[in-house]
Amino acid sequence: MFKSARLKLTAWYLLIIMAVSISFSVVIYQTQINEVERFARAEQLRLERRFRIPFVVFDENVFLEIKRRLVFLLLGINGVVFVVAGGMGYFLAGRTLKPISKMVSEQNRFITDSSHELRTPLTSLKSAMEVSLRDKDFTLKEAKILISENILEVNKLQSLSDELILLAQYQKPEEKVKFETVSLKEIVNKAINRIRPMAANKAITIIDNSDDLDLEADQYRLSDLFIILLDNAIKYSPKKTKVEIAAQKTDSFVKILVSDQGVGIDEKDIPHIFDRFYRADSARSKEETDGFGLGLSIAKRIVETHHGSISVESAVNKGSTFAIKIPILQSHSLKHNKFFSKCEQNLLFSKSSGLLSKI
Ligand code: ADP
Repeated sequence: MFKSARLKLTAWYLLIIMAVSISFSVVIYQTQINEVERFARAEQLRLERRFRIPFVVFDENVFLEIKRRLVFLLLGINGVVFVVAGGMGYFLAGRTLKPISKMVSEQNRFITDSSHELRTPLTSLKSAMEVSLRDKDFTLKEAKILISENILEVNKLQSLSDELILLAQYQKPEEKVKFETVSLKEIVNKAINRIRPMAANKAITIIDNSDDLDLEADQYRLSDLFIILLDNAIKYSPKKTKVEIAAQKTDSFVKILVSDQGVGIDEKDIPHIFDRFYRADSARSKEETDGFGLGLSIAKRIVETHHGSISVESAVNKGSTFAIKIPILQSHSLKHNKFFSKCEQNLLFSKSSGLLSKI
């Protein structure tokens, strides 16, 4: 598809350039011939006046030769334009279509990955129900057990669709980000409060060592970021451990650290954990903890929309530390503040309040 679109675009470029070039050639041909005729007439008049006898400066054959040469020259020039424009057009068409083709293949991969993730719980739901339906001695008690198991699967599907919606929402262009001066401490506190019941279930202590500092950020997105990192820190930590948040400010950026004393991440997995649907060590994480490998890709996207960076340092069975760097001042903030409508604010708020419903 990309190849035929590239060829079509090249053909269009070529058509436009050749139309311009041929029009110019016709004009050049016409003006040159007129000039030669005008020159021949003027010269004829001058000579006739001087010698008082009839003169022919260029006979018909010379004219025909001049026309023939001009046509060949213009054809040659157009031939060169055709070849150069064709090559350049093909190159430029490739460059024009490259981001579109990248986006299309990215979207296709996203759809394939999402369908694959959706298929597993749906298949297990379907087969469990089919087996039970065929069982003639299926009791009410067994039916209730099946329904409660199915509800668990449906819950998983619901969290997957929530995360997919969130990821799609955050893939939208940056214009939707609302930068404003926010208190980091306040956002961290809100995120901790949302995550506290989950920590309490595992007797995990959350320590907030973040300084009380301000930065320009989208508070809803930043809050989602902390919820994702704290959720992971708790999910991948054994009971009775500690999770810590620390934040320091330098001249130009804020550095936030989220550390845990959990299972850690193997060195080979670290380069991939921010990829969509990537889950490290499937035996450990897929069977024992819920998740679809989307959290960190959403986190990365949030950090990117804040023009920052996210990285991780980890040691297996010792713990992990996620480090986020966000510039204190966002260059687009003023522009965005002016144009960010109340309507968009409400939309963002209602979406983010329904976020990560599993927590
Ligand atoms: P999910 O947690 O839903 O699997 P994420 O994108 O949030 O997806 O994380 C990707 C993978 O990175 C996880 O499957 C897990 O293996 C690893 N990971 C993330 N955070 C931590 C952490 N704090 N400790 C250990 N492993 C982690």
